[in-house]
Amino acid sequence: MQAANERLMELSTTDGLTGLKNRRHFNELFAHEFKRACREQKPLSLLLLDIDHFKQLNDQYGHPFGDLCLTQAAQLIANTIRRPPDSAARYGGEEFAVLLPNTDKEGALHVADKIRESIGQHQVSDGQQQAVMTVSIGVASFIPSQNNTTEALLKAADDLLYRAKHNGRNRVEG
Ligand code: GH3
Ligand code: MG
Ligand code: MG
Repeated sequence: MQAANERLMELSTTDGLTGLKNRRHFNELFAHEFKRACREQKPLSLLLLDIDHFKQLNDQYGHPFGDLCLTQAAQLIANTIRRPPDSAARYGGEEFAVLLPNTDKEGALHVADKIRESIGQHQVSDGQQQAVMTVSIGVASFIPSQNNTTEALLKAADDLLYRAKHNGRNRVEG
């Protein structure tokens, strides 16, 4: 019974393809960490990451290969974030979110660049086809207060992600 409950919990919090947290669970965690950072007056950083030209990758190599790219990108992200309170989620189709509690902008930019490099250096292969992906990342940080919200941090990271795309992709903006 307990094993069954644990399995149910896992299914409701995890993205089936990549094994990362799903968006709903991430949002709960984000709200929780936001309150904690507000109480402790510690910086909270959010990375929003989007795979570059993913549509083209799917069209050229096929949807199963696209899924393999997503799984491997998720693995590389998970391997790069090392501190216990850090967490990563699949936020949308080919979009990921990384939450870094107790981390300021400088630290978050460092993590973002490590993720960008690790994905860009990795060759995805299914044994027949090979491809390399690049990612664009928006990095936003603040010390939460009563005057701001999780939505404000999300919006800031999303705007910076858009700027990274606009400025040529395969880059971090913060
Ligand atoms: P950009 O560099 O501007 O981000 O270009 P893009 O092609 O990555 O962006 P866009 O948002 O236009 O396309 C995202 C594509 O990702 C759409 C869809 O074909 C693909 N996609 C979304 N979810 C999945 C998925 O679960 N599996 C696969 N294989 N592809 C997906
Ligand atoms: Mg996208
Ligand atoms: Mg994309």
